[in-house]
Amino acid sequence: MGIFDFWSKDIAIDLGTANTLVHVRGKGIVLNEPSIVAFDRVTRRVVAIGHEARQMHEKTHRDIITVKPLGDGVIADYEAAEELIRGLIRKILKDFSGSLRRMVIGIPSGITEVEKRAVRDSAEHAGAKEVYLVAEPMAAAIGHGLDIEAPYGNMIVDIGGGTSDIAVISLSGIAAGESIRVAGNEITNAILQHFRKTYNLAIGERTAEEIKIKIGSAFELEEELIATVKGRNLVTSLPEQRDVSSPEIREAIAEPISQIVNAVRRCLEATPPELSADILDRGIILTGGGALIKGLDKRISHETKLPVYVGDDPLTAVARGTGKILEDLERFQNILVKTKR
Ligand code: ADP
Ligand code: MG
Repeated sequence: MGIFDFWSKDIAIDLGTANTLVHVRGKGIVLNEPSIVAFDRVTRRVVAIGHEARQMHEKTHRDIITVKPLGDGVIADYEAAEELIRGLIRKILKDFSGSLRRMVIGIPSGITEVEKRAVRDSAEHAGAKEVYLVAEPMAAAIGHGLDIEAPYGNMIVDIGGGTSDIAVISLSGIAAGESIRVAGNEITNAILQHFRKTYNLAIGERTAEEIKIKIGSAFELEEELIATVKGRNLVTSLPEQRDVSSPEIREAIAEPISQIVNAVRRCLEATPPELSADILDRGIILTGGGALIKGLDKRISHETKLPVYVGDDPLTAVARGTGKILEDLERFQNILVKTKR
Protein backbone atom coordinates (compact mmCIF):
# COMPACT_ATOMS: atom_id res chain seq x y z
CA MET A 1 0.00 0.00 0.00
CA GLY A 2 1.46 3.34 -1.04
CA ILE A 3 1.51 6.47 1.04
CA PHE A 4 -1.24 7.98 -1.13
CA ASP A 5 -3.54 5.04 -0.48
CA PHE A 6 -2.99 5.52 3.22
CA TRP A 7 -3.97 9.16 3.18
CA SER A 8 -6.84 8.96 0.74
CA LYS A 9 -10.16 8.07 2.27
CA ASP A 10 -12.95 6.13 0.57
CA ILE A 11 -16.40 6.70 2.02
CA ALA A 12 -19.95 5.53 1.43
CA ILE A 13 -22.96 7.69 2.23
CA ASP A 14 -26.62 6.82 2.72
CA LEU A 15 -28.11 10.18 1.84
CA GLY A 16 -31.52 9.60 3.41
CA THR A 17 -34.45 12.00 3.57
CA ALA A 18 -34.43 11.77 7.37
CA ASN A 19 -30.93 10.52 8.29
CA THR A 20 -27.56 10.50 6.61
CA LEU A 21 -25.06 7.77 7.53
CA VAL A 22 -21.41 7.63 6.56
CA HIS A 23 -19.24 4.53 6.28
CA VAL A 24 -15.47 4.95 6.05
CA ARG A 25 -13.61 2.21 4.22
CA GLY A 26 -12.05 -0.18 6.73
CA LYS A 27 -13.79 1.49 9.70
CA GLY A 28 -17.53 0.91 9.25
CA ILE A 29 -20.30 3.41 9.98
CA VAL A 30 -18.76 6.42 11.73
CA LEU A 31 -21.51 9.05 11.38
CA ASN A 32 -25.28 8.93 11.70
CA GLU A 33 -26.94 12.33 11.66
CA PRO A 34 -30.30 13.85 10.74
CA SER A 35 -30.36 15.24 7.18
CA ILE A 36 -30.82 18.84 8.31
CA VAL A 37 -28.88 22.04 7.61
CA ALA A 38 -29.28 25.28 9.59
CA PHE A 39 -28.60 28.55 7.78
CA ASP A 40 -28.32 32.15 8.90
CA ARG A 41 -31.32 33.75 7.22
CA VAL A 42 -29.51 36.93 6.27
CA THR A 43 -26.07 35.79 5.19
CA ARG A 44 -27.15 32.25 4.07
CA ARG A 45 -24.04 30.98 5.87
CA VAL A 46 -24.28 27.47 7.29
CA VAL A 47 -24.60 27.58 11.07
CA ALA A 48 -24.89 23.85 11.77
CA ILE A 49 -25.63 20.48 10.18
CA GLY A 50 -26.92 17.15 11.45
CA HIS A 51 -27.71 16.68 15.17
CA GLU A 52 -26.80 20.23 15.98
CA ALA A 53 -29.10 21.58 13.27
CA ARG A 54 -31.88 19.28 14.45
CA GLN A 55 -31.71 20.81 17.91
CA MET A 56 -32.44 24.13 16.23
CA HIS A 57 -35.24 22.76 14.05
CA GLU A 58 -38.66 23.97 15.28
CA LYS A 59 -37.00 26.02 17.98
CA THR A 60 -35.29 28.50 15.72
CA HIS A 61 -35.37 32.20 16.31
CA ARG A 62 -35.98 34.47 13.38
CA ASP A 63 -32.39 34.66 12.19
CA ILE A 64 -31.87 30.95 11.68
CA ILE A 65 -33.72 28.69 9.27
CA THR A 66 -33.44 24.93 9.12
CA VAL A 67 -33.74 23.02 5.86
CA LYS A 68 -34.25 19.32 5.14
CA PRO A 69 -32.58 19.24 1.73
CA LEU A 70 -34.10 15.92 0.68
CA GLY A 71 -37.45 16.68 2.27
CA ASP A 72 -39.69 14.18 0.53
CA GLY A 73 -37.26 12.20 -1.56
CA VAL A 74 -36.60 14.81 -4.18
CA ILE A 75 -33.84 17.31 -3.63
CA ALA A 76 -35.87 20.26 -2.39
CA ASP A 77 -32.85 22.48 -1.91
CA TYR A 78 -29.68 21.84 -3.92
CA GLU A 79 -27.57 24.31 -2.00
CA ALA A 80 -28.52 22.73 1.32
CA ALA A 81 -27.90 19.22 -0.04
CA GLU A 82 -24.40 20.23 -1.05
CA GLU A 83 -23.77 21.87 2.32
CA LEU A 84 -24.89 18.71 4.10
CA ILE A 85 -22.52 16.52 2.08
CA ARG A 86 -19.68 19.02 2.53
CA GLY A 87 -20.26 19.36 6.27
CA LEU A 88 -20.27 15.61 6.83
CA ILE A 89 -17.12 15.14 4.77
CA ARG A 90 -15.44 17.89 6.74
CA LYS A 91 -16.29 16.05 9.97
CA ILE A 92 -14.93 12.79 8.57
CA LEU A 93 -11.68 14.29 7.36
CA LYS A 94 -11.21 16.00 10.72
CA ASP A 95 -11.46 12.67 12.55
CA PHE A 96 -9.64 10.57 9.94
CA SER A 97 -7.15 12.96 8.40
CA GLY A 98 -6.39 12.56 4.74
CA SER A 99 -8.06 13.46 1.49
CA LEU A 100 -11.12 12.12 -0.19
CA ARG A 101 -10.87 9.65 -3.03
CA ARG A 102 -13.83 7.41 -3.75
CA MET A 103 -17.40 7.99 -2.72
CA VAL A 104 -20.39 5.63 -3.01
CA ILE A 105 -23.74 7.36 -2.48
CA GLY A 106 -27.12 5.71 -2.01
CA ILE A 107 -29.88 7.70 -3.69
CA PRO A 108 -33.67 7.29 -3.62
CA SER A 109 -34.73 5.20 -6.63
CA GLY A 110 -37.29 7.81 -7.68
CA ILE A 111 -34.95 10.77 -8.20
CA THR A 112 -34.56 12.37 -11.62
CA GLU A 113 -31.55 12.52 -13.92
CA VAL A 114 -31.03 16.19 -12.99
CA GLU A 115 -31.05 15.33 -9.28
CA LYS A 116 -28.60 12.47 -9.78
CA ARG A 117 -26.25 14.84 -11.51
CA ALA A 118 -26.68 17.35 -8.67
CA VAL A 119 -25.73 14.71 -6.09
CA ARG A 120 -22.70 13.74 -8.14
CA ASP A 121 -21.67 17.38 -8.57
CA SER A 122 -22.04 18.05 -4.85
CA ALA A 123 -19.80 15.10 -4.06
CA GLU A 124 -17.22 16.29 -6.57
CA HIS A 125 -17.35 19.85 -5.24
CA ALA A 126 -16.75 18.40 -1.80
CA GLY A 127 -13.53 16.88 -3.13
CA ALA A 128 -14.38 13.31 -4.21
CA LYS A 129 -12.27 12.07 -7.14
CA GLU A 130 -14.56 9.18 -8.10
CA VAL A 131 -18.29 9.13 -7.39
CA TYR A 132 -20.54 6.06 -7.63
CA LEU A 133 -24.30 6.15 -7.19
CA VAL A 134 -26.47 3.22 -6.16
CA ALA A 135 -30.25 2.89 -5.84
CA GLU A 136 -31.21 2.69 -2.17
CA PRO A 137 -33.36 -0.48 -2.36
CA MET A 138 -30.41 -2.26 -4.00
CA ALA A 139 -28.12 -1.04 -1.23
CA ALA A 140 -30.69 -2.06 1.40
CA ALA A 141 -30.84 -5.57 -0.09
CA ILE A 142 -27.05 -5.87 0.01
CA GLY A 143 -26.97 -4.45 3.54
CA HIS A 144 -29.52 -7.03 4.62
CA GLY A 145 -27.29 -9.74 3.21
CA LEU A 146 -29.51 -10.86 0.33
CA ASP A 147 -27.72 -12.55 -2.54
CA ILE A 148 -28.68 -9.97 -5.15
CA GLU A 149 -26.65 -11.70 -7.88
CA ALA A 150 -28.64 -14.94 -7.60
CA PRO A 151 -31.21 -15.86 -10.26
CA TYR A 152 -34.17 -15.71 -7.86
CA GLY A 153 -36.41 -12.84 -6.83
CA ASN A 154 -36.16 -10.97 -3.52
CA MET A 155 -38.55 -8.22 -2.50
CA ILE A 156 -37.27 -5.37 -0.41
CA VAL A 157 -39.46 -2.59 1.02
CA ASP A 158 -37.45 0.36 2.34
CA ILE A 159 -39.62 2.81 4.28
CA GLY A 160 -37.71 5.96 5.11
CA GLY A 161 -38.78 9.46 6.11
CA GLY A 162 -39.80 10.89 2.75
CA THR A 163 -40.07 7.89 0.45
CA SER A 164 -41.01 4.24 0.47
CA ASP A 165 -39.01 2.34 -2.11
CA ILE A 166 -40.09 -1.12 -3.12
CA ALA A 167 -38.06 -3.33 -5.41
CA VAL A 168 -37.92 -6.90 -6.63
CA ILE A 169 -34.27 -7.69 -7.15
CA SER A 170 -32.85 -10.55 -9.19
CA LEU A 171 -29.61 -11.11 -11.10
CA SER A 172 -28.20 -7.77 -9.86
CA GLY A 173 -31.08 -5.83 -11.37
CA ILE A 174 -34.40 -4.33 -10.30
CA ALA A 175 -37.05 -6.47 -12.01
CA ALA A 176 -39.97 -4.46 -10.65
CA GLY A 177 -40.01 -1.26 -8.60
CA GLU A 178 -42.32 1.26 -6.99
CA SER A 179 -41.38 4.48 -5.25
CA ILE A 180 -43.91 6.65 -3.44
CA ARG A 181 -43.50 9.84 -1.47
CA VAL A 182 -45.45 8.48 1.44
CA ALA A 183 -43.38 7.19 4.37
CA GLY A 184 -42.48 8.10 7.97
CA ASN A 185 -43.00 11.87 7.57
CA GLU A 186 -46.53 11.45 6.23
CA ILE A 187 -47.36 9.13 9.10
CA THR A 188 -46.04 11.67 11.60
CA ASN A 189 -47.99 14.38 9.82
CA ALA A 190 -51.22 12.35 9.99
CA ILE A 191 -50.84 12.22 13.78
CA LEU A 192 -50.25 15.98 13.93
CA GLN A 193 -53.37 16.62 11.83
CA HIS A 194 -55.44 14.24 13.93
CA PHE A 195 -54.84 16.21 17.13
CA ARG A 196 -55.44 19.50 15.41
CA LYS A 197 -58.73 18.40 13.83
CA THR A 198 -60.13 16.26 16.62
CA TYR A 199 -59.06 18.18 19.71
CA ASN A 200 -57.96 21.61 18.46
CA LEU A 201 -54.62 20.64 19.91
CA ALA A 202 -51.47 21.86 18.20
CA ILE A 203 -48.51 19.54 18.77
CA GLY A 204 -44.96 19.77 17.45
CA GLU A 205 -43.44 17.51 14.79
CA ARG A 206 -41.12 15.90 17.34
CA THR A 207 -44.01 15.17 19.71
CA ALA A 208 -45.99 13.60 16.86
CA GLU A 209 -42.97 11.48 15.90
CA GLU A 210 -42.56 10.35 19.51
CA ILE A 211 -46.21 9.24 19.63
CA LYS A 212 -45.72 7.37 16.35
CA ILE A 213 -42.66 5.56 17.66
CA LYS A 214 -44.18 4.79 21.07
CA ILE A 215 -47.68 3.66 20.18
CA GLY A 216 -48.14 3.91 16.38
CA SER A 217 -49.22 0.64 14.79
CA ALA A 218 -50.50 -0.83 11.54
CA PHE A 219 -52.20 -3.92 12.98
CA GLU A 220 -54.01 -4.83 16.20
CA LEU A 221 -51.54 -5.14 19.07
CA GLU A 222 -51.63 -7.98 21.53
CA GLU A 223 -51.68 -5.35 24.22
CA GLU A 224 -52.95 -1.95 23.17
CA LEU A 225 -50.96 1.05 24.48
CA ILE A 226 -51.59 4.51 25.95
CA ALA A 227 -49.43 7.65 25.74
CA THR A 228 -49.72 11.19 27.03
CA VAL A 229 -49.52 14.04 24.54
CA LYS A 230 -48.72 17.64 25.37
CA GLY A 231 -49.50 20.56 23.11
CA ARG A 232 -51.24 23.92 22.90
CA ASN A 233 -54.98 24.29 22.68
CA LEU A 234 -55.77 26.35 19.60
CA VAL A 235 -58.94 27.83 21.13
CA THR A 236 -57.69 28.78 24.59
CA SER A 237 -54.02 29.12 23.50
CA LEU A 238 -53.08 27.35 26.75
CA PRO A 239 -50.84 24.31 27.19
CA GLU A 240 -52.85 21.12 27.48
CA GLN A 241 -52.24 17.40 27.82
CA ARG A 242 -54.35 14.35 27.05
CA ASP A 243 -54.08 10.58 26.93
CA VAL A 244 -54.33 8.80 23.62
CA SER A 245 -54.62 5.09 22.83
CA SER A 246 -52.91 2.97 20.16
CA PRO A 247 -56.20 2.08 18.38
CA GLU A 248 -56.96 5.80 18.02
CA ILE A 249 -53.52 6.46 16.52
CA ARG A 250 -53.86 3.40 14.27
CA GLU A 251 -57.03 4.94 12.88
CA ALA A 252 -55.33 8.33 12.48
CA ILE A 253 -52.48 6.88 10.40
CA ALA A 254 -54.61 4.41 8.43
CA GLU A 255 -54.43 6.42 5.20
CA PRO A 256 -50.63 6.63 4.74
CA ILE A 257 -50.27 3.03 5.94
CA SER A 258 -52.78 1.88 3.28
CA GLN A 259 -50.88 3.79 0.62
CA ILE A 260 -47.69 1.94 1.51
CA VAL A 261 -49.47 -1.42 1.54
CA ASN A 262 -51.06 -0.61 -1.85
CA ALA A 263 -47.67 0.27 -3.32
CA VAL A 264 -46.39 -3.15 -2.20
CA ARG A 265 -49.37 -4.78 -3.93
CA ARG A 266 -48.79 -2.83 -7.14
CA CYS A 267 -45.16 -3.92 -7.16
CA LEU A 268 -46.22 -7.54 -6.64
CA GLU A 269 -48.66 -7.23 -9.56
CA ALA A 270 -45.88 -5.93 -11.79
CA THR A 271 -43.52 -8.78 -10.83
CA PRO A 272 -42.85 -11.47 -13.45
CA PRO A 273 -44.49 -14.78 -12.39
CA GLU A 274 -41.26 -16.74 -11.93
CA LEU A 275 -40.02 -14.15 -9.47
CA SER A 276 -43.42 -14.00 -7.71
CA ALA A 277 -43.03 -17.67 -6.96
CA ASP A 278 -39.66 -16.94 -5.35
CA ILE A 279 -41.17 -14.23 -3.14
CA LEU A 280 -43.80 -16.70 -1.99
CA ASP A 281 -40.98 -18.90 -0.70
CA ARG A 282 -38.58 -16.22 0.49
CA GLY A 283 -40.94 -13.52 1.74
CA ILE A 284 -40.68 -9.73 1.82
CA ILE A 285 -37.95 -7.89 3.75
CA LEU A 286 -38.73 -4.55 5.40
CA THR A 287 -35.94 -2.00 5.99
CA GLY A 288 -35.71 1.72 6.85
CA GLY A 289 -37.01 3.40 10.00
CA GLY A 290 -40.61 2.89 8.88
CA ALA A 291 -40.12 -0.88 9.13
CA LEU A 292 -40.21 -0.38 12.91
CA ILE A 293 -43.85 0.68 13.00
CA LYS A 294 -45.51 -1.90 15.21
CA GLY A 295 -47.45 -4.53 13.32
CA LEU A 296 -46.51 -3.30 9.84
CA ASP A 297 -44.99 -6.67 9.03
CA LYS A 298 -48.19 -8.43 10.16
CA ARG A 299 -50.35 -6.00 8.23
CA ILE A 300 -48.46 -6.48 4.94
CA SER A 301 -48.40 -10.22 5.50
CA HIS A 302 -52.15 -10.21 6.22
CA GLU A 303 -52.92 -8.34 2.99
CA THR A 304 -50.52 -10.12 0.65
CA LYS A 305 -50.61 -13.58 2.22
CA LEU A 306 -46.81 -13.61 2.02
CA PRO A 307 -44.24 -14.02 4.78
CA VAL A 308 -42.84 -10.62 5.85
CA TYR A 309 -39.67 -10.03 7.89
CA VAL A 310 -38.23 -6.92 9.49
CA GLY A 311 -34.49 -6.76 8.82
CA ASP A 312 -32.03 -6.54 11.72
CA ASP A 313 -31.23 -2.92 12.51
CA PRO A 314 -33.38 -1.64 9.62
CA LEU A 315 -32.25 1.99 10.05
CA THR A 316 -28.70 1.12 8.95
CA ALA A 317 -29.43 -1.37 6.14
CA VAL A 318 -28.78 1.06 3.28
CA ALA A 319 -25.60 2.40 4.91
CA ARG A 320 -24.29 -1.12 5.53
CA GLY A 321 -25.08 -1.93 1.89
CA THR A 322 -23.30 1.12 0.47
CA GLY A 323 -20.39 0.22 2.76
CA LYS A 324 -20.21 -3.33 1.38
CA ILE A 325 -20.28 -1.94 -2.16
CA LEU A 326 -17.44 0.45 -1.35
CA GLU A 327 -15.35 -2.36 0.11
CA ASP A 328 -15.83 -4.44 -3.06
CA LEU A 329 -16.37 -2.04 -5.97
CA GLU A 330 -15.12 -4.51 -8.59
CA ARG A 331 -17.79 -7.04 -7.72
CA PHE A 332 -20.64 -4.54 -7.63
CA GLN A 333 -19.64 -2.60 -10.78
CA ASN A 334 -22.82 -3.61 -12.66
CA ILE A 335 -25.30 -2.29 -10.11
CA LEU A 336 -23.91 1.23 -9.93
CA VAL A 337 -26.18 3.88 -11.44
CA LYS A 338 -24.81 5.54 -14.54
CA THR A 339 -25.38 9.26 -14.90
CA LYS A 340 -24.84 11.27 -18.05
CA ARG A 341 -22.14 13.88 -17.73
P1 ADP B 1 -34.34 7.93 5.39
O1 ADP B 1 -33.63 6.77 4.78
O2 ADP B 1 -35.38 8.52 4.48
O3 ADP B 1 -33.41 8.96 5.94
P2 ADP B 1 -34.79 6.32 7.75
O4 ADP B 1 -34.68 4.95 7.20
O5 ADP B 1 -33.66 6.86 8.52
O6 ADP B 1 -35.20 7.36 6.61
O7 ADP B 1 -36.13 6.36 8.62
C1 ADP B 1 -36.60 7.55 9.17
C2 ADP B 1 -38.06 7.40 9.51
O8 ADP B 1 -38.26 6.28 10.37
C3 ADP B 1 -38.62 8.61 10.24
O9 ADP B 1 -39.88 8.96 9.70
C4 ADP B 1 -38.76 8.11 11.67
O10 ADP B 1 -39.81 8.75 12.35
C5 ADP B 1 -39.07 6.65 11.45
N1 ADP B 1 -38.72 5.80 12.60
C6 ADP B 1 -37.53 5.66 13.22
N2 ADP B 1 -37.60 4.81 14.26
C7 ADP B 1 -38.89 4.38 14.29
C8 ADP B 1 -39.62 3.48 15.15
N3 ADP B 1 -39.03 2.85 16.17
N4 ADP B 1 -40.93 3.28 14.88
C9 ADP B 1 -41.54 3.91 13.86
N5 ADP B 1 -40.91 4.77 13.02
C10 ADP B 1 -39.61 5.00 13.23
MG1 MG C 1 -33.13 5.41 3.62
